[in-house]
This record gives sequence, structure tokens and C-alpha cells, in this order.
Amino acid sequence: MRYIEIHVGFDDVDSPSGGCTTHYASLLLAKWVKRGLELIDYPNLTRLNPGVPWKTRGNGSVVIRARVESEDRAKDLFEEALSFIYEYLGAYSEDWKKYSQPAVAMYVGEVEDRIKWFGSKALYDIVPISLLELLLDKVRGRLYYSVPGSGKRGLIGAIAGIGNRMLRGDYTYELVAYRSPDYIGSERKVSKESIIAMDKLYGRDTILNYDYETDRPLIMPHGPDPVLLGIRGEEPDILLKAFSKLDIYEPVPLAVVYRTNQHTDQHLKPINNLKEAYPYRSIKIYAQVSTKPRRILGGHVLFKITDGSDEIDVAAYQPTGGFRDIVEMLEPGDLVEVMGVIRPPSSRHGRTLNLEKIHVVMAKPKIVLENPKCPKCGARMKSMGRNKGFKCPKCGFKSKSATKIKRVVKRSLEPGWYEPPPRAFKHLMKPIKRFGREKEGFPKIYRPGTVVLVEGRSLSIRS
Ligand SMILES: [Zn+2]
Repeated sequence: MRYIEIHVGFDDVDSPSGGCTTHYASLLLAKWVKRGLELIDYPNLTRLNPGVPWKTRGNGSVVIRARVESEDRAKDLFEEALSFIYEYLGAYSEDWKKYSQPAVAMYVGEVEDRIKWFGSKALYDIVPISLLELLLDKVRGRLYYSVPGSGKRGLIGAIAGIGNRMLRGDYTYELVAYRSPDYIGSERKVSKESIIAMDKLYGRDTILNYDYETDRPLIMPHGPDPVLLGIRGEEPDILLKAFSKLDIYEPVPLAVVYRTNQHTDQHLKPINNLKEAYPYRSIKIYAQVSTKPRRILGGHVLFKITDGSDEIDVAAYQPTGGFRDIVEMLEPGDLVEVMGVIRPPSSRHGRTLNLEKIHVVMAKPKIVLENPKCPKCGARMKSMGRNKGFKCPKCGFKSKSATKIKRVVKRSLEPGWYEPPPRAFKHLMKPIKRFGREKEGFPKIYRPGTVVLVEGRSLSIRS
């Protein structure tokens, strides 16, 4: 039998009052999997440019990839996804029309290159609606889409998710557990001790479980989000084991393991020239520190970098904690690789890179001038005034010809990589501990039968 690949993407299916695109997509996925939909990948959770100013929270889009026997079947699924958006938003986020521009898109067939290009651009850049319109024009016939609200903003995310196929670059996984509707808004009943115990057991292969500096779990969001918790890490099996270690005192009707670009640094566009550091872009660049860092009111640490012709501000903000102490040790002339989102200039500051991580490539040796030592007794001599020579305070020896001596001081800042504490991490930021563990290519072990848990039990998925 001939099969057709379909890629169904969603974005912005939520609002500040409630709902979550991943929750909507997971409920739909569970329905489809129960009916025997044949997935060709784990559900994908793609985080897009964190610099986008109008994002709702995490700027994430979800894609379900499957194969079906006919285009009619594909259209049925698309219609079902669309009507479920209305149903979901009606139940979870009444005011969505005011805030959100939800979208569903379905691409039929193998994802074509221009959609992939669009997807990778959306990882680090601002994608204007005009570019979306151009794309829609080109892919007519293969792409079905609908925007139930007033605009197409969510459609950018939905299509960008489809385009980020994650067949080549790095990726990780996240197990997301969802709450029962009648618990949403109440305190999350997960034992803190069990989160610490889970972190001790699986911390090497999981990411951002707990912040020990502030004694706070990081796996749970706050507020009326339908997400109970999310465990991020390297392999689905480890996430399932880690999840089973948690003591949870409320129902968990649904949990799903996503394949995701979280913690891969995929949003960082390498640039060679600060002229390309456009506002809202996420970038990385090698540059030279051009001013001594200073700590300003509010505890933020600021310095400037230059590429020889242009100069921008770099900021390590207060929530990055001890990371600022490292940044403060920089000196003009140091060579660094810096990365993060570019904030637009304001009346008070120029373009500013919001520092996510720093690579100190070379800490310039520091040279200090010191008074000479007394040739008779070895004590440090004192100046007798400008051009008047030096005198030993201990034995009284005087010298007119003695001069200050240059000494190279070892810098306390070592070359290397530095990152903020876990609590200051954003979705896409790659922790240093993942360096060298980047994945390549489609998962070798692929057991999608374990990725959808209903009431704690796996739904079997044919693959
Ligand atoms: Zn002396």
C-alpha cells in the first residue's frame, strides 16, 4: 500500500488566561494514537527565536508527523484538528480572541526545502507576515492551513515547526505531564524530596531539574498552566525512569514525550560582523571586550564589545546570579565569544546583547607597574616623588636610578566556557554539560509506543 506523509503543526493555541499548545496537541495525539494513527516520529516540540517580542511565553510549536493511506484521510485529520482547536480554546482559555492568533497547518508529503529554510530562519530571526505570504503562495496545494483567530502570527510558528524536521542537527527530549482539568490553578502536588532524589539518580542525563542555590525545583511551571511538570533529557527511556521516581499526589491523566530542539543552542546564528546583530535576533559572535564591565543599579553587569568597526552593549542581568561575578572579571582587550538575544536600542542604551553564555577565548595578560625592591635588604622601596628616585623604608637605602618594574599578573579569569545558574536558563540554551553529547540524525532507538501515557499507561503505537 502507498502511504502519504503528513506533518501537522500547531502554535499559539493558548492565551495568558490558560491553555497550552502542547496540551492541546497532546490531547489530540492521544485521540489519534488510540485510533491507530501511525506516527513516523515522536511528536516534535520546536522552540523558536526567544527574541520575538510578541511570543506568548515559550514560543514553542508542536508538530505531529504521521503517515496515512490517502489524502482524504489526511484532510479528515486536518478538519478534526481544527474543530478541536475551537473546542479546546473554549474550554481552557475563554479570552483567546483578544490575545492569541492560533493556527493549524498540515503539510502533505516529504517536507520541502523552502519550508525547512523558513523553519530554520524562525529559530533565530524575526519572520515578517510578508515572508509568510510569499511562502504560502509557493507551497499552495501541499499545505493546508487555518487560522481561527484574527491573524496569522501563529501560522508562522506552526509552519516553522513543520520545517524543523530535526533529521540532521542536535536534539533532546522532554516528558511533559499534564494536569487533570479540576486541578488546574491549584498548587502542584509533587514531592520536592522526590525531585531531588530523581536528580541525584538521573542528573547526568537530564537537564534543569533543580536549582540548589535557591533550593527550588525547576521541572514545574507556575500558575494556571495545564502542565504539571516537564523532565528534559537525552533519551526517552531515561525520562520515563526519572518520571517514575517522582512522588505525585494528584492525577496525571496524560503524559507525552516530545523530541525537541530545547537546550541545543540552535537559535544562535553565528555572525562575523556586529552590523548583523539586528534587534530581536539571536546571535553568537567572536569579539573583543572594549570597556571594563560595570555593575549598575539593579545588579546588572554591562560591558561593550567591538569587532573593530562597530560596538554594542552586552548585559548579564541580575537573575544570572554568580555568572555576573565571572563577567565582571573581564578586561578591555579580552577575546570572547558571546551569545544571546539582541535587544533593540532605547533612549537609555544602545543595541544590547542579553548574555546567555560566554566563551572566554583569551584573557589578556595584565601588566602592573611596581616599585623596585631594595638591593640591600629586599624590602619594597617607596617613591620619593616624581623622577626623584626611590627610598627603602626599612634600611634607608636611596637610589636615584631605580625605576618601576613591569610585572605580568596572572589573571584570575581562566579561558573557557561560563554559564548562568540553572534557574536562569531559557528553553533553547545549551548547558555546558551537553557539550560533546550532541546528537546527529534520527533516533537510532525508536520506540514511539512508549511516548504517550494515559493514566500512567503507555498507549501502543505502531511504527
Ligand atoms: Zn633596604
